[in-house]
Amino acid sequence: MQDPTVCVAGGGPAGVMLGLLLARAGIRVTVLEKHADFLRDFRGDTVHPSTLEVLDELCLADQLDRIPHQQVVRAGFESAGRRVDILDLRHLRVRHPYIALVPQWDFLELLAAAASACPEFELRREAEAYDLVVEHGRVVGVRVRDRSGDHGADYTLRAALTVAADGRHSTLRRAAGLKSRTFGAPMDVVWFRLPWAEGDSAAQALTFRFGPGRAVVTIPRRTYWQIAYLIRKDGFDDLHAQGIEALRRGVAGTAPFLADRVGELTSFDDTSVLEVRMDRLRRWYRPGMLAIGDAAHAMSPVAGVGINLAVQDAVAAANLLVPSLRESQRSGAPVPDRALAAVQRRRQVPTAVTQAFQRAVQTLGLNRALRADPNASMSAPVPGWLAPVLRRPMSRFVGLGVRPEHVRTWPD
Ligand SMILES: Cc1cc2nc3c(=O)[nH]c(=O)nc-3n(C[C@H](O)[C@H](O)[C@H](O)COP(=O)(O)OP(=O)(O)OC[C@H]3O[C@@H](n4cnc5c(N)ncnc54)[C@H](O)[C@@H]3O)c2cc1C
Repeated sequence: MQDPTVCVAGGGPAGVMLGLLLARAGIRVTVLEKHADFLRDFRGDTVHPSTLEVLDELCLADQLDRIPHQQVVRAGFESAGRRVDILDLRHLRVRHPYIALVPQWDFLELLAAAASACPEFELRREAEAYDLVVEHGRVVGVRVRDRSGDHGADYTLRAALTVAADGRHSTLRRAAGLKSRTFGAPMDVVWFRLPWAEGDSAAQALTFRFGPGRAVVTIPRRTYWQIAYLIRKDGFDDLHAQGIEALRRGVAGTAPFLADRVGELTSFDDTSVLEVRMDRLRRWYRPGMLAIGDAAHAMSPVAGVGINLAVQDAVAAANLLVPSLRESQRSGAPVPDRALAAVQRRRQVPTAVTQAFQRAVQTLGLNRALRADPNASMSAPVPGWLAPVLRRPMSRFVGLGVRPEHVRTWPD
């Protein structure tokens, strides 16, 4: 079988989207995903208008619409019983002015199915890229451990370009020796679900509530509440030592409407902990290899932008690399470093600006609550008069991001 022109390690939003875009442009691409499926809970399901625009451009938005999901148009915080909206996406002049809360596995299956319609696309599941193959200083492929056994248990996959889209614990960026800048994050997040009760009102909104030492984000899903319980960085062991009752008390004290059902949390096995980290590679590439998505820049969960930035990276990478990849596929020419550098140049500023925004929210909004004395009373993170002023620019920034990418179409 012919080697692919591009090998993508990681079947997350960045990797599968890139695979789809390249295959549609006629580039032979193999995506390696170490898991057997896309089923992982609390993996981030916030599909923003920027991503919905991309899906529209790919003629996939209607298919996404058919997946059962929730559409959120407003987000804000509640303080002293009063709700203040900080986002109202209805201001945006786009076809989809809302955040679609779509299970990430459904989103990925949709992209993978669309990509599989192209003969140039291949997705290998249970195939883990565990090292790079380097010849004369250039990455020429990866070493793969394959539990499916479809292609052998351990083999080399050669490609003109290797893309590390293997997430925030990226094996390949480490193997490539790419250095990152790490930014502190004041919190970790405990994720769990609580039941929806009759009389609950989603009000199409996503709400933050602050308590001393914690913040609770309630995300309305169709049949349950997804809860993000924010605690101080590395505070999970303390919380765990205090027992599940401490978590129940914290939730009920901060979001009183959930008090009647916190008993559904029977143990910490019902929770999943996200250790928040934020970093960004100084250089996103080396000869023959490029990192995108979380592998290039782990994002804080603030504003739920991680998936969307990963998709934007994939679109930018395809837009900038297809001409060189076509040439490489035709003549065997190496993909020039300058093409890889162009991808970093294109995506670096939007990423840095978004991370700066996340750090500001963490420092000004969250840190104060997370460090507060247990008996402190909490005031609003943003003064009431400022929220309407911020609403439009924030909605645009969060919904569409900085310098949104658009899918290019290519002549055959
Ligand atoms: C608990 C949690 C909650 C989150 N909530 C949100 C949210 O609400 N909204 C949001 O926008 N973002 C959220 N995020 C972040 C978001 O999931 C990521 O920013 C986004 O998924 C990044 O996409 P990616 O494709 O770069 O990486 P990932 O989604 O991490 O995908 C990487 C993929 O590569 C695979 N992989 C890893 N190593 C290898 C290897 N060596 N070989 C082959 N495959 C490999 C992994 O199995 C995975 O499927 C959350 C993240 C977590 C962990």
